[in-house]
Amino acid sequence: MTIRVAHLYPEYLNIYADRGNIAVLERRAALRGHRLEVAAVTVGDALPVDSVDLVYVGGGQDREQALIAPDLAAKGEALRQLVESGAALLAVCGGYQLLGRGYQGRDGELMRGAGLFPHETTAGDRRLIGDVLLDCDVGPGTARSLAGFENHAGRTKLDPGAVALGRVVAGFGNDGESGYEGCRVGRAIGTYLHGPLLPRNPWLADLLLSWATAHAAGAEPEPLAPLPDRLESVAHEVAAQRARSRGGRF
Ligand code: GLN
Repeated sequence: MTIRVAHLYPEYLNIYADRGNIAVLERRAALRGHRLEVAAVTVGDALPVDSVDLVYVGGGQDREQALIAPDLAAKGEALRQLVESGAALLAVCGGYQLLGRGYQGRDGELMRGAGLFPHETTAGDRRLIGDVLLDCDVGPGTARSLAGFENHAGRTKLDPGAVALGRVVAGFGNDGESGYEGCRVGRAIGTYLHGPLLPRNPWLADLLLSWATAHAAGAEPEPLAPLPDRLESVAHEVAAQRARSRGGRF
C-alpha cells in the first residue's frame, strides 16, 4: 500500500533533526511492505485534503515559526478536514504550538495558529530543557511509555477537557506545572518531544502508520506485524533512565 505523507515546511521546521521521524516511518512501513510517498508542502502550497494519509510538522525556533505561521493558519480548515476524515498527524514542538490557537513568542508578538489543537502557548522567561518521560494511554489497554527531549520557552495551556498525549513522569511537559504533555485530537498528536521522537518510541511510529494505512484503505486500523525492535528498546531505556535521573529541573 502507498501511504501519502504531507511534510509541512521541512526547510523551516527541522530542529534536532526532526525529519528523522519521517525516516523511521519510511523504514517501518517498508518492512511491512508499504511505501511512503512524502511530499513537501510549504508556504504557498495547497494542502491536498483528498490525497493525504499522514501529516507531519517538525519543530523550529520563534524566527522560523514567524515565517510560516500565517501560511499554517490559512491551512487550518484543510488540516481540520483531514483529521476529521481520519488522517493521522504528528506535530513536534514549534509545529505543535502553531497547530493550537496561537503562540506568543519571546518578543511578545502573537502568531495566530491553525486552531486544530485546543490550546494556547505563551513564551516564558526560562526555557524548559531536558529529557522527558511520559506515561501515555492512547486507547483501551494501550498504556505505553514515551521518552524524548524537550527544549522550549513556550508554556502550552490545554483547554479544560482537552486530551493530553501523556502524563509527565519526568521532565517539564506542556507548561512545567500541569503534569501533562502534548495533546490529542482524533488521530492527531502534538508533542514537545524531539530527539527525534520515533526512533526510540517505535510503538508510536506503528500507531501512526496503522492509522495512516487505515485512512489510505478506507478501513478500520489494525495493529502492524511486530518487529524485533531490540536496538529501539535499548534506546528507549537509555533515554527513559536519563529522564528519570535528571529530567525537568531548572
Ligand atoms: N520556539 C518555540 C519555543 O521555544 C519552539 C522551539 C522548538 O521547536 N524547539 O517555545
